[in-house]
Amino acid sequence: MCIQFIDMFLDGAEISHLAGEFEDKDAYKIIEWVNSRFGDKATIAFSGQVEDCVILHIMHEISGKNLSAFMLDTGRLNEEVYDLVDRIYSKYGIKIRLYSPDSGETEDMVGKYGANLFYKDPKYRIMCCGVRKVNVLKRVLKDYAAWITGVRRGQVSTRAQTKKIQFDAQFSLVKVSPIADWTWKRVWDYIKDKDVPYCSLYDKGYTSIGCEPCTRPTFITGDEPTEEELRKGRWWWERKDSAKECGIHFSYDKNQVS
Ligand code: SF4
Repeated sequence: MCIQFIDMFLDGAEISHLAGEFEDKDAYKIIEWVNSRFGDKATIAFSGQVEDCVILHIMHEISGKNLSAFMLDTGRLNEEVYDLVDRIYSKYGIKIRLYSPDSGETEDMVGKYGANLFYKDPKYRIMCCGVRKVNVLKRVLKDYAAWITGVRRGQVSTRAQTKKIQFDAQFSLVKVSPIADWTWKRVWDYIKDKDVPYCSLYDKGYTSIGCEPCTRPTFITGDEPTEEELRKGRWWWERKDSAKECGIHFSYDKNQVS
């Protein structure tokens, strides 16, 4: 259990104190702190989002290629995401480790409900995200004391209260979101200024990167799209007021998945 790492490095009071202290710190300072505090017990969650590309670039500027990064390979991703993983390796020498869902769990789910179960009912969509993402993430994170994410408060209302450092109760470790306060424009300005590789799906009108059958382009223009505009390409067939979340940065109630 990662709780042992929490005992080793940080307690709840310290996390609360740091959350206040980090709010005005820039992403570089926060990541430097993560490195010094957690060393190789910290890892970066990469999902192909443009925000994750920013985080990787900052990490590379600070640490070179000696960093831990992983991606949840759901088995339903677009080719363009794998292409990005290759381009990141070519540019930085960073190997992003891909983790697959448990084969038995996936086969059981698909056998019972079909390969495209997510279109049938929200509870099946949440189930699929659970098997292909959340459960895999639990397996990965149990070996770490902290994970770094590209979550921004402006992505979706369920992330509006994200702190730059907080305890992640779902996965029992410290969660660090160094660009939580960045805007969409600031992310893209950084990408262009630093010539950071990003997923080519953005050039085809996407504003969020997810699994192929569950994500479509939004063709949003303008510097600062609304949250609804940014996420409307995800699970577009669900009600507008449904949580546009897979369950990694937001915990679903148990009765929503049964
Ligand atoms: S985004 Fe779609 S395909 Fe991917 S894990 Fe979730 S429901 Fe399954």
